[in-house]
Amino acid sequence: MRNPDWDDDNDEAPSAPGAREEARALQELRAIYRQADAAYAPFSCPASGECCQLSKTQRQPWLWYPEWLLLARHHPLPPPREDGGCPYLDAAGKRCTVYAERPFGCRTFFCERIRGPARQPADTVSALLLRLERVSQRLLPSLTGPRPILEWHAEASLREEEP
Ligand code: SF4
Repeated sequence: MRNPDWDDDNDEAPSAPGAREEARALQELRAIYRQADAAYAPFSCPASGECCQLSKTQRQPWLWYPEWLLLARHHPLPPPREDGGCPYLDAAGKRCTVYAERPFGCRTFFCERIRGPARQPADTVSALLLRLERVSQRLLPSLTGPRPILEWHAEASLREEEP
């Protein structure tokens, strides 16, 4: 099924807010993530890492600014992977190295191999996405949509290379 936070079609570059606002936004983001996890608790995922092979699937998670911020604050920026997989995969390309902080789209991505109830918690996902958008726009109003994880990653990599 198509996931609104895991498809392509948007871009815009952000710039930065203050520490207290950031902390508040990250706290709220974690609450949103907990609720997403609770909504998906009845489902089981084979955890093959296949959906993290972004160049093979031609799909990737789209992140609002606080989602990227959470990754950037808690994890070193990994290099791009030669196989086109998500840079946050482990060396074997099987496991997410940022699992506790993985983006909303990664938590709610649904493939045919997932087992569980017949219906997805679509209403909960929509409500949480709206909340996530509001948190992001409070923090960074200039960002009007989520951005692909590889775009955030490429931009941060370029910044790291700057003298
Ligand atoms: S952040 Fe983790 S779960 Fe999400 S695509 Fe990357 S490796 Fe996969």
